[in-house]
Amino acid sequence: MNRLGILLSLVLTTAFPALSADRPNMLLIVADDLGYHDLGFQGARDIPTPSLDRLAASGIRCTHGYVSHSFCSPTRAGLLTGRYQHRFGHENNPAWLPESTHDGLPLDQVTLPELLKKAGYRTGAVGKWHLGAHPQFHPMKRGFDEYFGALGGGHEYFPGKKGSSEYTIPLNRNGVDEPQTGYLTGQFGDEAAAFVKRHAGRGTPWMLYLAFNAPHTPLQAPERWLQKLAHIPDINRRTYAAMVCAMDEAVGHVLDQLQATSQRDNTIVLFVSDNGGPNLSFRGIGNFTDNSPLRGAKGDLYEGGMRVPFLVSWPARLKPGTYEQPVIALDFLPTLVSLAGGSPPQDRVIDGVDLMPFLTGEKQGAPHERLFWRTQGPQGNHAVRQGQWKLVRKAGSAPELYDLASDVGESSDLASEQPARVQELQAAIAEWEKGTIPPIFQSPRTNKKAVKQKKN
Ligand code: CA
Repeated sequence: MNRLGILLSLVLTTAFPALSADRPNMLLIVADDLGYHDLGFQGARDIPTPSLDRLAASGIRCTHGYVSHSFCSPTRAGLLTGRYQHRFGHENNPAWLPESTHDGLPLDQVTLPELLKKAGYRTGAVGKWHLGAHPQFHPMKRGFDEYFGALGGGHEYFPGKKGSSEYTIPLNRNGVDEPQTGYLTGQFGDEAAAFVKRHAGRGTPWMLYLAFNAPHTPLQAPERWLQKLAHIPDINRRTYAAMVCAMDEAVGHVLDQLQATSQRDNTIVLFVSDNGGPNLSFRGIGNFTDNSPLRGAKGDLYEGGMRVPFLVSWPARLKPGTYEQPVIALDFLPTLVSLAGGSPPQDRVIDGVDLMPFLTGEKQGAPHERLFWRTQGPQGNHAVRQGQWKLVRKAGSAPELYDLASDVGESSDLASEQPARVQELQAAIAEWEKGTIPPIFQSPRTNKKAVKQKKN
């Protein structure tokens, strides 16, 4: 570079320091049923996850990061709307009912991709959808320009299995059925990497929602990963670990493609699991996930249900480190919409908070005064977190109170020692609940359980 060139670049970088960081691309990666402890950067010793570890090292690890539900579909409904899904009745998993215009993310809800599209972004989704089977709920009817994936709540990982459940339906590309050609997690990674490459250098920023169904059951993994994990004696744990490794490899392909197309610095990458690892002992499969040091598992309102690995990486703007105030995936919508220069809808409550000023250190304090969870409707299970305090109230049981600062494993119930705090948190739940409605559809499995319980 000659002297003029150096001078010019100095002037440009001084005069427009934020220019290169304006309007970032956005990659939102969601894992499915991943155990809290089951990634290298979360402490796993038996599952190598170099790509996700690299992502973690490049950004901010939110150590008190939550999702808004302890199972699949409601978390996604919250994440894509920025609102507690209880506000619009999306508290259960929709059944796979392609003829039902009712079981799915209600059409009056405004989604993150819709808002980004309005702001000029190109939007894509790859992977598991699980927000309704009827064509009116298809991702491309909900704000995505492009889609490739499995529309149900889960899918077979290897091609060729015949059947009539959502796990064996053909994959879907832009509304058209397409046969599966390979191991599903790898295929999703390849599709996401292709999206990243296809949209590089076009002058239009993009957002990609990459929702793996891994490592959700069925436990099916490529042989080469199983061989590499021969040190894990339990076959279920080994298979699950191999599924996590395959996902890590797929994430690696996407990150490599970002790098190769010079987009990594100005792409904000977010990573969460949609809920905690399941404990399937009740099905006789055993417990192959590890949520330690947290208590509980998928479906619970203890921390193991909805406190998840939570990353925000944006090399151009965010210094790597940790962030320790409670945050929730509901925050993605206001954060990303604000970065896009758009604005969230003004005619409804948005529960998420723009995290950027908190992550840059510009704003101190906690983004949320309280966080709430509820499963099984108003008569069901509730939880609230306020600062270090967590109240869990299971249906028909006395409330439990935990001090997460000294007892992250929720082992010591302090409710009887602190009745005033219990009362305060119960009142907070009652107040929050006024803004919610009962579930508008039922989970298929919950129905079965309810029937079974009735018979007993
Ligand atoms: Ca899940």
